[in-house]
Amino acid sequence: MSPPRRWIGHWAVLGCVACGDAERPRYVTEHLDVELYDGEVLCDGSLEIMDAQVERVSAFLGIDPPPQISVFYGHSAVKDGCGGTWGGCARASGVYATSASIFHELVHAVRHSQGKPGSVGSWLFEEGLAEVLSGFRWHLQSELALPSTLERGPAMLAALPRGEGKFVPEDYPTAGHFMSWLRTTYGDAALVAFLNDPRYLGGDAYEEAFAAHFGLSIAEADSAWRSAAATEYLWSEPCDPARALPWTGSTLEFSDTVDCEAPHTTGPAGEIDAVTLRSHCFTLAQPKMVRAEFEAGGGRLRLMPVDCVDTGELAPEYYDYKRLKGGETQELPLAACTWEVQVDGIAGLTLDFMLRLTQL
Ligand SMILES: [Zn+2]
Repeated sequence: MSPPRRWIGHWAVLGCVACGDAERPRYVTEHLDVELYDGEVLCDGSLEIMDAQVERVSAFLGIDPPPQISVFYGHSAVKDGCGGTWGGCARASGVYATSASIFHELVHAVRHSQGKPGSVGSWLFEEGLAEVLSGFRWHLQSELALPSTLERGPAMLAALPRGEGKFVPEDYPTAGHFMSWLRTTYGDAALVAFLNDPRYLGGDAYEEAFAAHFGLSIAEADSAWRSAAATEYLWSEPCDPARALPWTGSTLEFSDTVDCEAPHTTGPAGEIDAVTLRSHCFTLAQPKMVRAEFEAGGGRLRLMPVDCVDTGELAPEYYDYKRLKGGETQELPLAACTWEVQVDGIAGLTLDFMLRLTQL
């Protein structure tokens, strides 16, 4: 089920933050008030997913979603609102972001509701959290760092006073990787208890809070993190459980419409303004040859592997993503994975399709 949304119309006349009065498209969802810059367009599915991110982050932290968050969306909004070369930012006035940074900045916006904007916790943990939780729907977040050789490590970054210009872009991978290590080593319960501890939130006694919840000092954690193998952490959540596609015996049929005004279609994106039906996934328990019939008067379909059981015995093509054009039928090797079905259409048009999968 999708959350109810209150529409106030796509073309409300509004004042503008940094560039005089202008008419800009504006969307109001349950948790967001989104103003679009630069002629941006947002399909309903993109808005629904942005809204879902607010609920997801709030649920992770065990708090109620904050009141309506203002979002200024588009490259010029980011340039005016954040300055420098930042890809986005979250201020007291709201979130300035593009599709690449929106999930990250919404994490900050939710955190700001737990204190005063700009004075919640410290850079290291707040940026690390925003990096880790930004792996959602269309955004795959990879955390890679070389802990053993790093000069600006977690212990040093944790002690940085808050304020502009202290945390540099090169510190983001460190923050994201250290947070990934904390989360996978100590679990969400300990992590959330630390993040919500007033001693950390207020910044007064973060070392005490850290030791209380993780059982070691930040300096000790820095050493343990450095001596752990340089793991790559992948954070992603492309599938919506409410849109899982079931098999009936050895057949799966899925018919729908790609439509920018439907709550499952995201975009537009890319040079051709593709809009894409997303978040629908099916699971294959065993590797199979599968006949895929994609009945549509155009468009493209992709099957993307999400979580796979890799026994090392299958040829690599079982794990490759698959691609079909409208009207095509193919017999495909599919590994035992959860697969996301993505269907591309063109903004402004609707595309009816039917996908039929048959296990051979
Ligand atoms: Zn950030």
